[in-house]
Amino acid sequence: VAVGMAFSLAACSGGRGSDSAASGSTDNKGALVGVLMPNKTSTRWIHDGDAVKAGLEKLGYKVQLDYANDNIPTQVQQVSNDITKGAKVLIIASIDGTALSDQLDTAGKKGVKVIAYDRLINGNKNVDYYTTFDNYKVGVDQATSLLTGLGLVDADGKKTDKKGPINVELFAGSADDNNATFFFNGAMDTLKPYIDDKTIVIKSGQTSFQQVATQQWDANRAKQRMQNIIAKSYSSGDKVQGILSPYDGISIGIISALTGAGYGGSGTKLPIITGQDAEIPSVKSIIAGQQYSTIYKDTRQLADESVKMANDLLTGKTPEVNDTKSYNNKVKVVPSYLFQPVVVTKDNYEKVLVDSGYYSASDLK
Ligand code: BGC
Repeated sequence: VAVGMAFSLAACSGGRGSDSAASGSTDNKGALVGVLMPNKTSTRWIHDGDAVKAGLEKLGYKVQLDYANDNIPTQVQQVSNDITKGAKVLIIASIDGTALSDQLDTAGKKGVKVIAYDRLINGNKNVDYYTTFDNYKVGVDQATSLLTGLGLVDADGKKTDKKGPINVELFAGSADDNNATFFFNGAMDTLKPYIDDKTIVIKSGQTSFQQVATQQWDANRAKQRMQNIIAKSYSSGDKVQGILSPYDGISIGIISALTGAGYGGSGTKLPIITGQDAEIPSVKSIIAGQQYSTIYKDTRQLADESVKMANDLLTGKTPEVNDTKSYNNKVKVVPSYLFQPVVVTKDNYEKVLVDSGYYSASDLK
């Protein structure tokens, strides 16, 4: 107990040679690691935070885990506090990928290592490693599942002979999150041929990332935008048949706007709607036949990887990566470890989500 206390006091007072910090040092037993997550509104970040904390504590590290309620100044302050307290490694899922630059400059000067978690931090050289899912592929998978749900491609991903025009509307994530453009670009590269030959028609005319982005991934903003689109572009009786949605929370907002306008009732079917994160309410919605698909990203893999990276950095090893070209943060290419996303629909949710132990069957009742 006394030894443990000594470690924690040292870590809190920024002692133990805080200037030499993580790299190459073997003196980092019990060191403090700062773990920063964006919000608790999305359960995925709660799972991520819990898993990273548990993994680090198992290895004997001290952990400061913070959520920033999607407030950028709060996260900036949390990063500063961690550095002041003597953290040797920061694992950060940023809210705005460019807002932390001053703090990262300080981290760099003190030798504190920084791992970008899920979201890339842009515009600073002191981002040492990045672990995420293949974000472009997430977008490709979202669009492909939309095309499958619409009957435009078959189960093998081949184009069918179904003809348009099919009315689709597009939503993207938050413009300050680097991932949002990756998702959108992957999706649009996949949808483009269908839009170009008018198989898919975007009646709102809103097709650029700026037009379709949803600030802070906010469900209510998405709901309002969907309501506006229904009022402006579908008042003559035309129906929207497909929605590219980047995230389950946004899909819920969109579904709420649609059901409010009479979709899903006796007459009009809900459109084919995508999502991301396999959040419990959306998996239930998929089971109930409302949302069509989501993208499952096993946050346990991501958490484990970030713990491994932190431990390597704290014990003088070089973390393993599997991508050294995709993620340029505008200053450097950040060495990355990418995981693969999985499309989930009503057909495979049990196999993918329950059999893997990610959820129990009762979670989804
Ligand atoms: C994550 C997604 C998530 C979104 C909204 C993105 O950065 O990669 O998994 O759906 O943020 O929280």
